[in-house]
Amino acid sequence: MERRGSVTTRIREFNLSFRGFIPVTMLDWEGKLAATLFVAQCNFKCPFCQNPDLVRDYQRLPEIPWESIASHLISRKGWLDGVVIGGGEPLIHSKLIKYLREIKDFGYPVKIDTNGSRPELLQEIIEKNLVDYIAMDIKTSFPKYSLAAGRRVAVEKIKRSIKILIGSGIEHEFRTTVVPGIVDKEDILSLARYISKGRIYFLQQFNPKITLDPNFQKVKPYDNQFISELVKEANCYIKTKSRGLR
Ligand code: SF4
Repeated sequence: MERRGSVTTRIREFNLSFRGFIPVTMLDWEGKLAATLFVAQCNFKCPFCQNPDLVRDYQRLPEIPWESIASHLISRKGWLDGVVIGGGEPLIHSKLIKYLREIKDFGYPVKIDTNGSRPELLQEIIEKNLVDYIAMDIKTSFPKYSLAAGRRVAVEKIKRSIKILIGSGIEHEFRTTVVPGIVDKEDILSLARYISKGRIYFLQQFNPKITLDPNFQKVKPYDNQFISELVKEANCYIKTKSRGLR
């Protein structure tokens, strides 16, 4: 069993449920018309999380039966370009493999969003050709990781996931939400150096509108110019772009 309040080397199994479904969107996979599935529950509790409903209050959301998702995907074949699986954290669920197989059998490319805390499952889905694109969050520099994730994190697992992605040849992106108090310039530059062999790095603007910890709704985001300058500096190590600047 996972120890309360920490992410340890032992794996806790969660019951997989889908609690959100966007039938068609162009926002979740660049250049693709996709359907997005949201898996409930997460092993992190990032205070700035924008999906508290899926992380903490998921039991209040109706469960979406797989049969209705599958029938939508089958009926939209040839029209949708792919399927995105986000959350919550999809890779805390080993049972995800069963659903990935079905989605691939329907003929869809798949993108997965992950926090990188389950390198074993990440490796397995890559080796089994069950995924085509992976977007991995890197919350902050490694010494500050537990602050960002809201619980103790086995940072070596995050590093293993980074290594797996970079070595896999699979299309991927790394991304960091630039939250004041959790991520500063030095954090970004140390991460950019660490992932310099990766494909692309996105620096995402923080949006305080909805957060897991209500105190973070009072945090003022960095101004856009600061993030644009960070992008320029990080570009010295890895191709870097911004996302969500207003
Ligand atoms: S932001 Fe953090 S808590 Fe929220 S889903 Fe992602 S990893 Fe989980």
